[in-house]
Amino acid sequence: MQNNWLSRRACGWTTCILALILALFLTHPAAAQPTGSALLPPQVAARQVAPPHVVPGTTYNAAIPTPTDALGFALGERPVRHHDLLAYLGTLDRLSDRISVEEIGRSHERRPILLLKITSPANHARLEQLRTEHLVRLEAGVEAPADAPVFVWANFGVHGAEASAQDAALATVYHFAAATGSEMEAMLDRAVILAVVVLNPDGHALRVSRVDRFSGEAGVSDPAHFQHSGWGEARVNHYGFDLNRDWLLLSQPEARAWVGAWQRWVPQLSLDHHEMGSNSSFYFHPGEPRRTNALISRRQTELADQIAGYHSRALDPDGVLYYAEEGFDNFYIGKGSTYPQVNGGVGILYEAGTAAGGAVEGRNGLRTYAENIRLQFRANLAAVTGAVEIRRDLTASQTAFFRQARASARASGPAAYVIAAPDDPARIQRFLGLLAAHGVTAHALSETIEAGGRRFEAGRAYLVPTDQRQAAMVRGIFETPKSFEENVFYDVSAWTMPLAYDLDWAALEPGAFRPRLLGERARGGFDRQAATASDLAEGPYGYVVRWSDRAAPRVAGELLRAGLLVRAASAPFEAATPAGPVAFGRGALFVPTAGQQMDAAAMHALMGKLAREDGAMIAPIVSGRTPSPATDLGGNKSWTTVTRPEILLLFTGDAPRMEAGEAWWLLDHEMGLPVTLRRASDLSRTELSRYTHVLVMGAVSSGWTRAETESLTRWTRGGGVLIASGAAAQWAQRVFAAETGEAAAAGASPSARAAAGPALAPASDGNEARTPDQPTARPAQPPRDRRDFDRMEAGETEHIIAGALFQSDLDTSHPLAFGHTDRDLAIMKLGTAVLEWPREDAYAVVARYRDAPLLAGYASRTSIARVAGAPAVTATQRGTGTLVLFADNPTFRGTFPGTERLLLNAIFMNRHIRGPRAP
Ligand SMILES: [Zn+2]
Repeated sequence: MQNNWLSRRACGWTTCILALILALFLTHPAAAQPTGSALLPPQVAARQVAPPHVVPGTTYNAAIPTPTDALGFALGERPVRHHDLLAYLGTLDRLSDRISVEEIGRSHERRPILLLKITSPANHARLEQLRTEHLVRLEAGVEAPADAPVFVWANFGVHGAEASAQDAALATVYHFAAATGSEMEAMLDRAVILAVVVLNPDGHALRVSRVDRFSGEAGVSDPAHFQHSGWGEARVNHYGFDLNRDWLLLSQPEARAWVGAWQRWVPQLSLDHHEMGSNSSFYFHPGEPRRTNALISRRQTELADQIAGYHSRALDPDGVLYYAEEGFDNFYIGKGSTYPQVNGGVGILYEAGTAAGGAVEGRNGLRTYAENIRLQFRANLAAVTGAVEIRRDLTASQTAFFRQARASARASGPAAYVIAAPDDPARIQRFLGLLAAHGVTAHALSETIEAGGRRFEAGRAYLVPTDQRQAAMVRGIFETPKSFEENVFYDVSAWTMPLAYDLDWAALEPGAFRPRLLGERARGGFDRQAATASDLAEGPYGYVVRWSDRAAPRVAGELLRAGLLVRAASAPFEAATPAGPVAFGRGALFVPTAGQQMDAAAMHALMGKLAREDGAMIAPIVSGRTPSPATDLGGNKSWTTVTRPEILLLFTGDAPRMEAGEAWWLLDHEMGLPVTLRRASDLSRTELSRYTHVLVMGAVSSGWTRAETESLTRWTRGGGVLIASGAAAQWAQRVFAAETGEAAAAGASPSARAAAGPALAPASDGNEARTPDQPTARPAQPPRDRRDFDRMEAGETEHIIAGALFQSDLDTSHPLAFGHTDRDLAIMKLGTAVLEWPREDAYAVVARYRDAPLLAGYASRTSIARVAGAPAVTATQRGTGTLVLFADNPTFRGTFPGTERLLLNAIFMNRHIRGPRAP
């Protein structure tokens, strides 16, 4: 079916001719065409009996080109390139009246992400009506009529490296477009299939390029062959984010595209195609039963089990090895197979043991790419068949889910949550955008109230009522669970979103809630928006930029790039504006009119543009004299000049990803700051004197020589700012301690360290489960702990923090904390590593975990004791430079504006940091 997406594209000559030729053919039965074998060893090529898109015994419409026709090679021979995939889907869109294609978004690298709607021509004619009726029924809690179609969603390729998960889309879509007969027609009458192709096009493109780059004429199935490597880099997106954690967080454009579409349809069944290691066979949900999120109903798991029956009946005749209910779980709600389940649907995860670069030897024999495509496609087809057969149950379960979630919100728990970020309107707008994207309703607060010991002001705070269709998602977003049936987690154990966003927030108990508090519906948005509504007036003396706004560091970068002199305040002050005195917090930037290369009119134009486009509050200034003491805008005590940062980010592996990638995303994508990316292994060939800041986030190069390490410490002592987080922070504190004779403390035994400093816990370099109350003088006795063998997994993970939220106490007067006014700062903690107490500098601990720090998630008492009270973020003077250490990732999944701010301050506010003059 042709639509807008297609009409924006010219018909390529090859596809036009192909369409003409194909139109001449008649319907023909599926031939067992042998597949090609460019990548396959001969014994594998011989095993291919039919292309993976063919279901034996099915008759296909010859007017629809097969993938082999369109690509010029059979699926499974080599991975399909993104532009070829788009061209083929465009052809199907044009030739099939069962398919329509919609572009729902673009990746960072501007590749289209497509939503394919597959159903009968009759359903296509009233598709929008079917969708809106479905949503209206869900909102009202009304049962669907017997003839309502079931909506089945399919995720193809969220992890770019897992290539059979994307190419299976072509097999699947071809089958639904071309298979003839009354059975298929009935199926498409009863189902609307919504397929996203592909979810992570940038990772996918990278993978295809690598597999092609290292493929030879003769296939190599040796797992050691380089072609089979490089999974990590292509799993993620452009900035190194794992998009299959972003269903909840929506920090990336790809996830916003598909979650937006998912919530427009709210399908009853979602299928999520992946690959895993080649030593494993084939996995499908239901997941590990003991690790099911409490928001998921038993009925949903039962239905996943029924769908599993369709999978096994489809795969058994071929003798396919498979398993379910093992390893993979449904706990973290930001994964593609779990998210649907807290949104009323059934989610199925598929994992095929990868064939890597085409064919690879594994513990269960040879895995081939073509077989994996076939497996994914056949499993998908089995699930759609099942969905059609049990569609009344799936639909009823979805209606019941929303009804029950709502009823339980009415029966217990808070009536609403109140949220605010008074000093950073953009942050609350972003949070409201996140809620709206998940279909959660929020309202402006219509009256000023007190809740949880805080004051929330009308018009600047928002309310999220719990009694709404998305009651389960409201719980998933706001709750702070701390007790769990099991302590094994596939991913993080907590993700309370207002803590991640460092919001002011409180629960409103039913007694404190009144419906009249609900003002206008608030939708927010992810885009930057102007903080100043009217045009910026001219500031004859200069301009002040509020630092607490999310966009302020972006503005700082643009001002410095424009060559302007910028000063930053280390104390709160009041400034004279045309509208009278206005209060500003620490970190506020002052851009004087005097002493600039730019004339006043050009500067006014630039400030107006930044206020409009970036969304930081900017005020025109009429006088240098401030009503507040010792803060006059030309003074020395409270002001320093901001220098233009030159940032070097050292990364390990093929590309920055996870922690390093997230820092790159923050600095580059969010703040518009140029970042020089360089492999850590190229350190010796790097002229460090060019840079003001060097970042080593997460992983640190294992291969650095002593001379390379010394080049970094020497550069720091000469005035550089070295920023390290996670494992790199542990490394940096060891290196600097060894240089300055602190080795006695840093390198000694944990007990000596615990005795040497006020830290309650040693650094996490071992598994010692030492708590402050244990004696440290005598060596510990070997544990006389005896447990049953089958409790080993739980025992092994007992003291692991898989991802929990910890409360820290933030020194808001420290330059690294400028922009914060509240001493509470939640930190996402993975593992139990903490920082050493800085020696001879009592002012260097920017954030310290609180004594009872666990806010949400799982952590054993032993782990909590190791972390409690210890430093989380430090900034120490090293020569004339600064060493900034984060025990944890400050930009975790691009979703922690509170800790991200500390990293940004390390970039712009470093000149305010100094050590004490005398010990
Ligand atoms: Zn995956």
